[in-house]
Amino acid sequence: MGDRAGLAALTEEIVACRRCQRLVEWRERVAREKVARFRDETYWGRPVPGFGDPDARILLVGLAPAAHGGNRTGRVFTGDASGDFLFRALHAEGLADRPVSRSVDDGLTLVDTYIAAAVRCAPPANKPTIDERDTCAPFLVREIALLTEIRVIVALGAFGWDAALRALASLGHVVRPRPVFGHGGEVVIGPYTLLGTYHPSQQNTFTGKLTAPMLADVLLRACQLVTEESGSWTP
Ligand code: SF4
Repeated sequence: MGDRAGLAALTEEIVACRRCQRLVEWRERVAREKVARFRDETYWGRPVPGFGDPDARILLVGLAPAAHGGNRTGRVFTGDASGDFLFRALHAEGLADRPVSRSVDDGLTLVDTYIAAAVRCAPPANKPTIDERDTCAPFLVREIALLTEIRVIVALGAFGWDAALRALASLGHVVRPRPVFGHGGEVVIGPYTLLGTYHPSQQNTFTGKLTAPMLADVLLRACQLVTEESGSWTP
C-alpha cells in the first residue's frame, strides 16, 4: 500500500515551499493580478502537490501547473483546457470517476491513478529554468518512493519524460542508452514501465498533434500493463 502519512507530509512540505525565488514571485503575482474571467476568484498562488489514489499503479507526470489552472484552483490539471482534455480521456478509460476537473472540492476521484507535475509552481511561459527543474526534482523522487504500488509512469510530454527518467535514476533505476521521448514510447526501467504521450496542452490538442484517440491508446496501454502484471483490473 502507498504511504499515506508520508504522502500527506510531503504534500504539506510542497505547499509551503519557497525555494525558487522567480517562481514564487511569478505564482503570487499571477494570483494577485488574475485574468478577467477569473477576477472574482481567490487564486491558490502556491505550489501544487500531486493528487490521486495513494495505492495507484499508474502515475501521470506533467510539466507544471498552469498559471490560471492549477495555480488558481490548487489542483494540477484542474480548471484549464489541458485538464478538460486529460480528464475526459481518464474517465473514458475508467481512471477517473468523472470527465471534468474544475475545482479542488468537486469530489473528483482518481481510480488507480495519481497525477503529479515535474515542477510544482506555475512558471512564466510554462518554461521552468534548469535550476528550477532541478530544485523541484526531489519532490517527484520522494513521491514515487511513497507511491509503492506504481508500476506504470505516463509522461505527459518531453519534460515529464525527462523528469521521470531523472527521478527513476535517483531511485537507482538507470537505463542506457537514455530513451528518447516520443508519443507512444515505451521502456521498461527497473520495476516500472515508462510510457510517453504528447502533452495535452492546447497547443497540441487544438492543432491535432494530440488527438483523443491518441491519448486513449496510451492510457489503454497503461491499463493493459498493470492488468498483465496483476491479472486484475477493476475500475
Ligand atoms: S518549483 Fe518546486 S522547489 Fe521551486 S518553489 Fe515551487 S515547489 Fe519549491
